[in-house]
Amino acid sequence: MVNRERILEEFLEMVRIDSPSGREKKMVVYLKEKLTGLGLEVVEDRAGEKLGTEAGNLVATLPATDSRLPALFFSAHLDTVESGCGIEPVVDGEVVRSAGDTILGGDDKAGIAAILEMLRVVQEEKLPHGVIQAVFTVMEEQGLRGALHLDRSLLKAEMGFVLDCDGPPGTIIVRAPAQNKIEAFVVGKAAHAGIAPEEGINAIAVAAKAIASLPLGRIDSETTANVGIIEGGKAINIVPDMVRVLGEVRSLDGQKLDHYTQKIKEAFFRTAAEHGARAEVKVEFLYPSFSLKESDPPVALAVRAARALGLEPVLKSSGGGSDANYFNHYGIPTANLGIGMSRVHTTDEYIKIADLEMSARYLVEIVKTAAKK
Ligand SMILES: [Zn+2]
Repeated sequence: MVNRERILEEFLEMVRIDSPSGREKKMVVYLKEKLTGLGLEVVEDRAGEKLGTEAGNLVATLPATDSRLPALFFSAHLDTVESGCGIEPVVDGEVVRSAGDTILGGDDKAGIAAILEMLRVVQEEKLPHGVIQAVFTVMEEQGLRGALHLDRSLLKAEMGFVLDCDGPPGTIIVRAPAQNKIEAFVVGKAAHAGIAPEEGINAIAVAAKAIASLPLGRIDSETTANVGIIEGGKAINIVPDMVRVLGEVRSLDGQKLDHYTQKIKEAFFRTAAEHGARAEVKVEFLYPSFSLKESDPPVALAVRAARALGLEPVLKSSGGGSDANYFNHYGIPTANLGIGMSRVHTTDEYIKIADLEMSARYLVEIVKTAAKK
């Protein structure tokens, strides 16, 4: 049986451990000990070295009791956004929140807590299972970079579940977009704004025209685009010669991602050329998209397990990326599951204790369901 007190205590203990992106070492040390104590073989990969940060991803493996049963992995990320240090969790009736000046860090320590409790219950109840892996990543909040550098040779599972989504247990993310980051520079010509404005080329005015011509916002049901930052200019009496514009495009469809990225690039080049300015545009591919069908193994299993627990399975698309994007890209079908974390990335973040408990019960049910024919 999932133990409500035990999972709550462990969750509170973990959110008190500082682990902002790039500084996950304390969580790695904590989990190595916990997982080893639970009988798993634990390996830390070399992602930390590649990223120049203090810790790598953890891949822990519980051997199968029956090798004919499917091998599963469960994953959550170790890092938190800022302000995520010195978190003091407060149990407030049926919910846990922070004391108010930091995030709570339920994103994603609620996922870690559910995985640990599941591993414990599976062994306490001697449930039959195939290989079970727990994968804990670093640097997720910095563009999924831990998952990007994950040592894939350590993954033995044939399907996976990431626990990193809002929405109550039973929420199953089956599609998520790919994302491009766009950095555009418009280079004009500086001049004195009062004495010789005709000698200048106003980079701000050119950038504004280019931006005004862009497709932005929700472009279609699969695609969004945004300009988020504009920087440029030095003084009101100088015609500005340089503007930097930062934006993004996301799409569930790779061709649309390329198409709208190209449109944005062309808008800057064309507008700059029309006004005697120059544009440079850099595109960085941040992460791939994924799309699962209801019949794909992790989705079918998550749906069956939800129904067995009396939860209503809700299949959804997400507008954001998660480590599931990379796991799917690596060829292991992986769904992202809702764990009830709410108002994440704000100081109002909270989670219901009932959802912490239900997430662990749900993972146990997934293991049980996988063992049935
Ligand atoms: Zn997260």
